[in-house]
Amino acid sequence: MGRYTESVCKLCRREAQKLFLKGERCYSNKCALEKRAFPPGEHGRTSQFRRRSESEYSLQMREKQKCARIDGVLEKQFRNYYAEANRQSGKTGENLLTILESRLDNVVFRAGFGKSRDMARQLVRHGHITVNGKKVDIPSYRVTPSDIVEVRGKSREMTPFVVAHAEAGERTVPAWLEVIPNRMRILVHQLPNREQIDTQVQEQLIVELYSK
Ligand code: SF4
Repeated sequence: MGRYTESVCKLCRREAQKLFLKGERCYSNKCALEKRAFPPGEHGRTSQFRRRSESEYSLQMREKQKCARIDGVLEKQFRNYYAEANRQSGKTGENLLTILESRLDNVVFRAGFGKSRDMARQLVRHGHITVNGKKVDIPSYRVTPSDIVEVRGKSREMTPFVVAHAEAGERTVPAWLEVIPNRMRILVHQLPNREQIDTQVQEQLIVELYSK
């Protein structure tokens, strides 16, 4: 699957918002957005983050791109998620965020087993994670209530998991998940509602974009 290959920090600078794509660096003064608080590119220094006359369409498009970038999802898959969210009952925008949040790579990230979603995605892809006792190496796999996500026994000695275990308790884990550090286990109690998802996006703009 194709991925964004340019510096991910440029994505934050383009959106004028921290998208938290680089783990610990995002919380430090090494964050590119703090050091270079202007859009990337030749005219970045002289341009403003927000063009005053930005059209409605442009705002909607940017919000969609921001959301997709935060979760590391490409256009086609994002559209598929939207279509699924639209078929569900309830608010489409909130359904969309719940779908994104329930991806296995996001669950591993939220539990603190990966410093960033990108790292969590790699950990899943490399076969270090099981769901209900079976290896799952598909980052887009979606968890459901009562699922048990675990780090595989022989993977627990790997540095990222040793660090995650040592730092357990430092990260706030959302209430829909429960982490049992000693067993490197994540219990999925429920799927998250909007209040439990801290992704800084205005999902209504995405709905407006795709409703056209
Ligand atoms: Fe974005 Fe993190 Fe890079 Fe800062 S360090 S610009 S938050 S990806």
